[in-house]
Amino acid sequence: MVDLYIKNGKTVSGDKIELTIQAGKILEVAEELQDIEATEVIDLAGESYLSAGWIDDHVHCFEKMTLYYDYPDEIGVPKGVTTVIDAGTTGAENIGEFYELAKNAETNVFALVNISKWGIVEQDELADLKKIKEDLITEALAKYPDFIVGIKARMSRTVVGDNDIIPLDLAKKIQADNHHLPLMVHIGSAPPTLDKVLADMEKGDVLTHCYNGKPNGILDEQGEIKDFVWDAYRRGIIFDIGHGTDSFNFKVAEKAKAEGLVCETISTDIYHHNREAGPVYDMATTLEKMLVLGYSLEEILPMITENPAAAFHLTNKGQLKAGFDGDVTIFKVAKADKTLTDSNGFTRETHEEILPTYAIVGGKVHPIKGE
Ligand code: ZN
Ligand code: ZN
Repeated sequence: MVDLYIKNGKTVSGDKIELTIQAGKILEVAEELQDIEATEVIDLAGESYLSAGWIDDHVHCFEKMTLYYDYPDEIGVPKGVTTVIDAGTTGAENIGEFYELAKNAETNVFALVNISKWGIVEQDELADLKKIKEDLITEALAKYPDFIVGIKARMSRTVVGDNDIIPLDLAKKIQADNHHLPLMVHIGSAPPTLDKVLADMEKGDVLTHCYNGKPNGILDEQGEIKDFVWDAYRRGIIFDIGHGTDSFNFKVAEKAKAEGLVCETISTDIYHHNREAGPVYDMATTLEKMLVLGYSLEEILPMITENPAAAFHLTNKGQLKAGFDGDVTIFKVAKADKTLTDSNGFTRETHEEILPTYAIVGGKVHPIKGE
């Protein structure tokens, strides 16, 4: 007798798929399973897609903050997202308080620790270098080794004040001293200029807000991809969407797609405001934007499953394989006429929508209510 049997599902490549989950882990995966006895059965009748649980690697979900906050179980499970990574909302001084709340969520929650010790308590958290305390970060990493999966540095003028590239140099030192932890870097206004930021980054480091429409973005004044951006891309820097209120521009994303500069991970940068009022709303809407850009579901799915799992060393997540965590997302693609809006108010029309119907976290089934 197994805990859960999901039958008659389909993969995005059109194959049949069935799986079982026992004690929170995936037990078996095959096109068809025979003679299964299960406590709980979900029969998808060949109508729904089944994928590894969706991972959103850039969110803000510590409810005690005032600038960027949300609740893990608003942006996770009800949206089909089984795992969220909070991207530096908190620093070494308050990440413990965040952990105490996050551990009770139905959604899996991990965190990147902001190099500024109180996180994003104000918009310019890196304008005062005294807030970057390596010893406090090392202590937090030792105390919450399963919760903190990396570090975050927000490298834009509004955040760093007059400090230009210095906070990133410090972040790289902290990373080097701590087992080369994953590092996510936010970009925006200059200084620091993007060429300086990318010059500091190495293979495996994550550049979030990669398709932002700001002058300090990946395109030059002629609308071409800057040479040093190609160089960084070829060196293996991970380009992450980080849609957000200000950071996803259709034209930039279209140019990148046309030239073959393809992001590796899709994330929302969601928090209560851009969830409720848009333009983000949820992961599914962000995926619809990728579909409208011309990416196929087969290209999109790894960007919210195995790629973020690899980037942040979530070694038991992101794949439907025996022994992996029992995290599964079930969804449908339906016909619908819909206008999609980017962070700069530009729109595209789409004729299909993505509807998550179940989020399964560690074998626990959460049906998702439709509209
Ligand atoms: Zn950001
Ligand atoms: Zn963010």
